[in-house]
Amino acid sequence: MKKAYEKETNPTAKEIFKTILANVEVADRDNMLICQDTGLPIYMVKVGSKFPVDGAKISAALKEGAKRATVEHPFRGSSTHPVTRVNPQTSVGEGLPIIYWDFVADSDCLDILMIPKGSGSENVSAMKMFIPADGVSVLKKFVIDTVLQSGSNPCPPGIIGVGIGGTADLVSKLAKEAIARPVGSHNHDPFFAKMEDELYEAINSLGVGPMGLGGDVTTLAVHIEWAYTHITQNPVAVNTQCWPARRARAKVYPDGRVEYGF
Ligand code: SF4
Repeated sequence: MKKAYEKETNPTAKEIFKTILANVEVADRDNMLICQDTGLPIYMVKVGSKFPVDGAKISAALKEGAKRATVEHPFRGSSTHPVTRVNPQTSVGEGLPIIYWDFVADSDCLDILMIPKGSGSENVSAMKMFIPADGVSVLKKFVIDTVLQSGSNPCPPGIIGVGIGGTADLVSKLAKEAIARPVGSHNHDPFFAKMEDELYEAINSLGVGPMGLGGDVTTLAVHIEWAYTHITQNPVAVNTQCWPARRARAKVYPDGRVEYGF
């Protein structure tokens, strides 16, 4: 964010960056929330093949953790029934918390990444099933159009996560995984790494700027995750992360050690 502030030339945008940076400082100093919408609890879990606890117990513990974070700590109760809109104020319910599982060979570590996701950024998510005849340029246009249409709603500048390939559900998950990557990282595949840079340049030439009020910096990073798809399909998804890009990681080891980080 500091680098983005230095790069920004629009005076109004620079003021917005100053406010954002002051917000971060105050939140750090006073141990307060950086934004009132702490979002939905989302966990990305990697279980090492040598980690000695079964998945059901881990799942139950994550649920309990989400509940305690809401009842005992300042995680806002933002989770509600989709039709009755009844909110149990626990962040736990049918399908919640959201847990994505992965498994790692020859590892004794349980790696838990928590990415709370607010609604301003999640609400502008988009997915479309293109066909191969549409070509690559249409995928890029879809990503750029999505960011443009999002305007101020996702509290830019944040991270634009892009999923390409897979199925309708997998492509959305890939876009979510893309926002979880650290800013400055690139996809392992040179083709998609180049596309990340191209989209980054294109999006930052839109002029949307911080908080959508105009400026040079519309996004801090564009991350792509991809998967093989069907010969007649070309799905693309966009998941936008807002500027706080909150995340917390715990690495748990069999001897009880826990390393915290991001
Ligand atoms: S989009 Fe992000 S920064 Fe904006 S209000 Fe929602 S959670 Fe907060």
